[in-house]
Amino acid sequence: MALRPRMHFLLHSEAGVRLHRGMKRYTPIAAYTLVVLAFALIAVWLALDLQKERQRLIDATTTTSQQQGKLVGKGLSIFHTTANHLLNDVLGRTYPDDFIVPAPNPLIWARYSGLLAERVRDTPFLHSLALYNENCVFMASDTPEPTLKARTLQQCDAARKQAGSSKLQVRYITSAYALLGKPVLAFYRNTPTLDNSFAGGATTTLDIAHLQSWLHEYMLDDNESLTIFLEDGQLLAHAAGTANPLSALSVQQNLRQNMALPFYQQAGQEPRTVQQGGLLMSVTMADDFPGYVVVSFGTSGLLKDWRAHAWQLSMFLLMLFAVSLFCTSAYLKLLDEREKLEKLATTDALTGALNRRSFTERGQAETERAHRYARPLSLMMVDADHFKKINDRWGHGTGDSVLIGLSKILQRSVRQTDLVARMGGEEFAILLPETPPEQALSIAERLKDTVFSTVMTTCEQHDIRVTVSVGVATLQEGETLDDLLARADQACYASKTGGRNQVNTAPLTMALAC
Ligand code: GH3
Ligand code: MG
Ligand code: MG
Repeated sequence: MALRPRMHFLLHSEAGVRLHRGMKRYTPIAAYTLVVLAFALIAVWLALDLQKERQRLIDATTTTSQQQGKLVGKGLSIFHTTANHLLNDVLGRTYPDDFIVPAPNPLIWARYSGLLAERVRDTPFLHSLALYNENCVFMASDTPEPTLKARTLQQCDAARKQAGSSKLQVRYITSAYALLGKPVLAFYRNTPTLDNSFAGGATTTLDIAHLQSWLHEYMLDDNESLTIFLEDGQLLAHAAGTANPLSALSVQQNLRQNMALPFYQQAGQEPRTVQQGGLLMSVTMADDFPGYVVVSFGTSGLLKDWRAHAWQLSMFLLMLFAVSLFCTSAYLKLLDEREKLEKLATTDALTGALNRRSFTERGQAETERAHRYARPLSLMMVDADHFKKINDRWGHGTGDSVLIGLSKILQRSVRQTDLVARMGGEEFAILLPETPPEQALSIAERLKDTVFSTVMTTCEQHDIRVTVSVGVATLQEGETLDDLLARADQACYASKTGGRNQVNTAPLTMALAC
C-alpha cells in the first residue's frame, strides 16, 4: 500500500509516462540481452571446461607415458639382471689361473666352451658368451667364431678402463666390430681380483634387432613412439606408431632442445615430461640399466577428438547466437508492427489524436482512479467554430488540413499525460488528470487564445484562422465519464450560444432529496 502514491506519481508524471513507454519497448530487448548474456556465460563456462578437458587429457597422457616409460625401464632391467647373473655364474666357475695364460690355449678353450654353450642356451635373448684373459684375448667361447677377436679387442679396451671394477658394464657395439656384422649390446664383467687389477672377464651380447622387436611389444597407442637410449645418449631401439611417424633422430633432437641433458644420468630420478614442438615427451631413467626410455606422443593426434569437440561446440554456440540475434530482430519487428496496429486501433487516422473508443476506455480508467484516490480530474470539450464555412470556402481537403493543424495545437498545449481525442467531426475532448477546475479553466483559456492567434497557411498560400468554443467540467463525486462528458458538452454549448471563441465552465450539479 505504501508504494501506491509513488506509483501513482510515476504513472501520471511526464517522466513516468516516458519511462513507461520506454520500458514497454526496452523490456523485451533487455530480456533478449539477458538471454544472449546467459548464452555468452554458458559459452565461457563451456570454453573453460573444454580448456580444462584439454589439460586433463594432457595430464592423463603424461601419466600414461611416464608409467609406460617405467614399464619399459623394468624390462630393460630384466635384461641387465639376467646378463649379470649369467656372467656371475660363469665367472664363478672359472679358475683365476686360467686368465693369466697369455696365449690361446686349446685345453682351456675346451674346458670352458661346453659350459658357456650350455649356460647361454638357457637365456634365449643373450648370445656370444665368452671369457677373455688379461691380454684381452678370448680364451673360451660358446661358439668358435673367429670374428670374436675384433669385438673382444674393442670391448677389452673398455674393460681395462674399468679395471678393478667387477660391476656389470654395458656397451653398444657397432656392426663393424660385432659378431656376424650385426649391432649388439654387449654386457661384460671383469673377474674380481684381490688387488683390484684387471685380469680378464666374461662377456655376452644382446641383439639390437631383438631389442627392437621387444620394444614393439610395449606399444600401446598408434600415436606414440618409444625410444631407448644408453646413458651416453647412444640410440639403442626405437618404435613408432603409424599415427606418429616420429623418427628416432627427431626424438634425439627434441630431447637435446627441451631437456637439460645430464638429468637422466642421475639414477633414480623421477620421470620428466615436456610438451613442446607438437610433442609430449616423457623421459624415464631405467632402474637397473644404464639408459633411459623416451615415450613421445604427437599432441595433434592426442587432441584430435578434443579439437573436433571444440569445433562442434563453437559451431553450436555460433548457431545459437545467430538464432538468438534473429529472434531478437524478429521480435523487435513484431513489436513495431504491433505498435503500429495498436496506434491504428486507438488513434484517429486523420489527426493522430485518440479515437473515441480508446478515449472512452482510458478515460474510464482515469475516472475510476480519480475517484479511488480522490484526485482532481477535468475535461475540456473543444469544438471548432463555423467549421462548415471553412469547408464551404476552402474545400473539404483544406478543412481536413485545418483539423490536423487544430489537433496539433491542442496536443502541444497540454501535458503528455493529458488525453487528446477526436470525438467526431470538428469536435475534440481533452481529459486532464490531476487538474483542479481553476487550472483547467486557465489551460482552456490559453488553448482558446493559442487557436485564435494562430494563422494556418495552406499549401496554396491561403491564410486561415479558426476559433474554438470550449466547455470545461471537473469530475464530481459519484460522476461517470459520460456524466462528465455531458457536462463539458453543455459548457461548450454555452460557449457557442455565448458567441463562440470563448470558454465556459460547467456548473457543479447537486441532486436534491425529493
Ligand atoms: P458550430 O460553430 O456551430 O460548431 O458550426 P459548425 O459548422 O462548426 O458545426 P456543424 O456541426 O454545423 O458542422 C460541422 C462541420 O464539420 C460539418 C462538416 O462538414 C465538418 N466536418 C466534420 N468532419 C469533418 C472532416 O473530417 N473533415 C472536414 N473537412 N470537415 C468535417
Ligand atoms: Mg463546430
Ligand atoms: Mg460540432
